Amino acid sequence: MPQPDDRINQTHDPNLKSWVESANDSGTDFPIQNLPLAKYLRGSVVTWAFVVGEYLVPLAIIDKPERLAADLVRHPADAGWFSIIDRITARKGGIGSLRRSAVDSLRLDSNRTSERQRIENAMIPLRDAELLLPEVPLNYTDFYASIHHATTVGAMFRPDNPLLPNYKHIPIGYHGRASSIVASGTDIRRPRGQQSPPDTDPKAPPAFGPCKMLDYELEVGMFIGPGNELGQPVPIGKAAEHIFGLCLVNDWSARDIQKWEYQPLGPFLAKNFATSISPFIVTMEALAPFRSPAYKRPDGDPRPLPYLLDERDQASGAIDITLEVYLQSAEMLKRGLSPILLSKSNSFKDLYWTLGQLVAHHTSNGCNLQPGDLLASGTVSGPGPTERGCLLELTWDGNGPDGKPKPRKPIQLPSGETRTFLADGDEVIFKGYCEREGFRRIGFGECRGRIVATAEGKA
Ligand code: MN
Repeated sequence: MPQPDDRINQTHDPNLKSWVESANDSGTDFPIQNLPLAKYLRGSVVTWAFVVGEYLVPLAIIDKPERLAADLVRHPADAGWFSIIDRITARKGGIGSLRRSAVDSLRLDSNRTSERQRIENAMIPLRDAELLLPEVPLNYTDFYASIHHATTVGAMFRPDNPLLPNYKHIPIGYHGRASSIVASGTDIRRPRGQQSPPDTDPKAPPAFGPCKMLDYELEVGMFIGPGNELGQPVPIGKAAEHIFGLCLVNDWSARDIQKWEYQPLGPFLAKNFATSISPFIVTMEALAPFRSPAYKRPDGDPRPLPYLLDERDQASGAIDITLEVYLQSAEMLKRGLSPILLSKSNSFKDLYWTLGQLVAHHTSNGCNLQPGDLLASGTVSGPGPTERGCLLELTWDGNGPDGKPKPRKPIQLPSGETRTFLADGDEVIFKGYCEREGFRRIGFGECRGRIVATAEGKA
């Protein structure tokens, strides 16, 4: 049984039911205990909403309307950058109070009967809504926090010494590109770029053209709630207060471009052509029951330095999420074949660093995080061969006697096709959900993206 946690309250009661009937389906990602945030477009109006079952309930309708600032409710799409997270965290009671209010209004035994009619008139089916990015981050950072991913990828290049000496001391990350973050469902155009000369002829000039080794990376992103002032690090003991919620992230990666460009300064054009995120922000409030102890470091591993070490963070700073990756090729779609499961793991709770440690480290030099910033985990992989969060790992077949990777082992698709990397027309689908005995299952919805050919034709 989970440890009692003061972050768990009546909104997590597994017996709560909603008068929105689809929220009571056992398989739904969005029971009344979840209430993720979404943003949708209808006509020319952008609206923020809680997701309940198969419906979007505008925030405007929750709580006593007179207590809501008008700009929390509706904001024209053309009025510049606006952070719903900033607006909510600045309100008295923050997301916690908005969430309690929503539960009071949406629960089956709610005594707010007049409100129910108002909500029913305002809510719209998810399937009829154009979902947008739930928040438009101004800044995006990507980490490398899964030790299983770092170890497997490292073994491809350094079989005897897969992890670099800094890995167990310092969270590794790089600054990504916020402008190319796109909502789930947006097509991903195959990038073009420079590719290294072949290993057999290293003196040959590099090629330039469509990426031939296009990959996905299964990640989880955290949205920052309150920011910190420039020059004022967030102490590890306060880091959790700066995390608003999580989403699924696909950090699309061009491996051939990456291989040629990444030394000495790290990823650049191999990563910044697109990053897809799921359209729902699952709040840390909703995730409270699924907190888990930080990854237990094997004997002999270094202790985190004091600025990264906090008792509560170590006791409950990880989040237990099951993550799945599916693929459907254009041919599979045409023939009515369902997407196939490529990998599944619950290794997100076993990241080498907690989310709090990533925040504390990111700000340890005084760097200021801003409300709505997106910080992603890095590819989440487990130790097993079916738990790998990208094709680079999944189709790796070990190294040969010369120490170099053997030819890749293709994935067989039910259509008879094979894949080592993504082809045009392939759709990649991520799913995520949390389950724990004694609590209602909650989910993240899906993060989807389909590869389309480069502008100049097929890759
Ligand atoms: Mn990544």
